[in-house]
Formats: sequence, structure tokens, C-alpha cells
Amino acid sequence: MCDIPVAETCWDGFLTQRYDFNFTLVTQGLKGYLWAFPCLINEVPHVNVGIYSLGNTRLSNADLQRLLAYDLARLKPQVSSPKFRAFPIYGYTPGRPLAAPHVVLVGDAAGAEPLMGEGISFALEYGKFAAQAILPTLRTRRWDFSEYSETFARSGLGKKLARLHMTACLFYGSTSRFWFALAARSRRLQSVGLKWYNGVEGWHQRSGWEAVRAVLQPRTG
Ligand SMILES: Cc1cc2nc3c(=O)[nH]c(=O)nc-3n(C[C@H](O)[C@H](O)[C@H](O)COP(=O)(O)OP(=O)(O)OC[C@H]3O[C@@H](n4cnc5c(N)ncnc54)[C@H](O)[C@@H]3O)c2cc1C
Repeated sequence: MCDIPVAETCWDGFLTQRYDFNFTLVTQGLKGYLWAFPCLINEVPHVNVGIYSLGNTRLSNADLQRLLAYDLARLKPQVSSPKFRAFPIYGYTPGRPLAAPHVVLVGDAAGAEPLMGEGISFALEYGKFAAQAILPTLRTRRWDFSEYSETFARSGLGKKLARLHMTACLFYGSTSRFWFALAARSRRLQSVGLKWYNGVEGWHQRSGWEAVRAVLQPRTG
């Protein structure tokens, strides 16, 4: 990612308070997206531009930087060589152990959500979950945490991350064209998907079948 003063670009997203997500590079093998976010650095309006990529892709880091530089040209930046910075993000993968004797993983160490690479709210939820697992060990003095991974997988948080892992496989895998086309055409799917992602109206606790019914049910009135 890199930060560029808005005044040195043609980007209008700062004025309109817009966040841009661009998934078009999925067709070139990217398992992720390009973003452009408005931000203030030392009170100066900037655009933060970056590329998110899941680790299991055929694209190298050099490919990612090339694709990002190509996309950056769209903003017509006046800076000739922007300063790029990179950070590793590990996406949650169901079935991977999250604990060992004297060790419990939380947050990015356990896995951020793989579809968008979001991890702040999940890190807070992980913290709550780990605290509940650690508390009884202060009394029992058993620190093997042998049930932690399985209990996590059965929890609401574990199920949500597993579904996001599956969604990432659908949208970034061999069926990506179908799922993007469907998401682009169906307003109901967009609405249910966003509500589920944001945990609105209890959608994160409803079953997949309920979501399918809500998307397919005939219009009334
Ligand atoms: C460029 C970028 C943009 C992102 N944007 C978003 C976003 O918009 N929304 C969102 O939800 N998520 C976003 N994320 C992901 C989010 O930042 C992480 O998922 C989240 O910060 C994870 O929290 P954490 O507490 O697990 O880890 P961290 O925030 O990485 O905290 C770990 C801490 O441990 C410290 N530490 C490491 N080793 C040691 C050690 N040996 N001893 C003591 N301390 C140590 C580190 O210095 C760090 O302070 C983004 C990530 C990146 C890289």
C-alpha cells in the first residue's frame, strides 16, 4: 500500500467520503482486491491505495506491486515513485489448530477473516473467547488447552469465520465469475450479504437456507 496527497491525484473519493473496492483483478488470479481509502496524515488529505491478496495465490509479491502500480496510474499521481509498504495478513483456515499446551492464539495469529482481510472486530471477539477459555485454568491449573480449537470451531465466531473462508473460496476460486455475476445482478443477495457480514438484524446467526430463501422468495405486493 502507499499514501499519496489527494492534491497530487485526480481522485475525488476524499471529497465524496468514498471507499473504493475493486475486485476486477480476480480474473487475473488475484485472491483479493484493490482499495482506495480517504485518510488524513498530519491534517493533510491523502488517499491510501493498496492491494489485498490471500497468501495461496500464484501471484508473487513483485506481481502484486506491478498490479498496484498499474492501478495507481488511474489516479494520475504526480509523485513519480510512491513509497510502498507491505504487511503480512494470515486468513483464518478452518481445521488449523489454535492452541497448544500453554499457548492460545487470538486475532491475526489465529487468522483474520479471509474474504476482506478485516481483523479488528474479530481480534476483539477472539480476545473475549480466549479470556473465557483461560479463566477456568487459573483454578484448575491445567494449561493444555486441548479443547480450545474444537470449542472455537463450534462457537458463533468460529462458524462465522468458517463461512467467510468458504465465501472467499467461492469468490476467489474457480467459480469466481459465477459468484461475482450473481452478486452484481441480485440486489437481495447484496442486501442479505452485507447484513450478514455486518451482523445486522441477526443475519449472522441465521442458517444458510434462510439466506437462500430470502434471496429466492417471490416478491410480494
Ligand atoms: C494495511 C492493513 C489494513 C488493514 N485494514 C483493516 C481494516 O480496515 N479493518 C479491519 O478490521 N482490519 C484491518 N486490517 C487488519 C487488522 O489490522 C488486524 O487484523 C488487527 O490489527 C489484528 O489485531 P491483533 O491484535 O491480532 O494484532 P496486531 O494489531 O498486529 O497486534 C499485535 C501486537 O503485538 C505486538 N507484538 C508482536 N510481537 C510481540 C512480542 N514478541 N512481544 C510483545 N509484543 C509483541 C505487536 O507490536 C502489535 O502491537 C488491516 C491490516 C493491514 C496490514
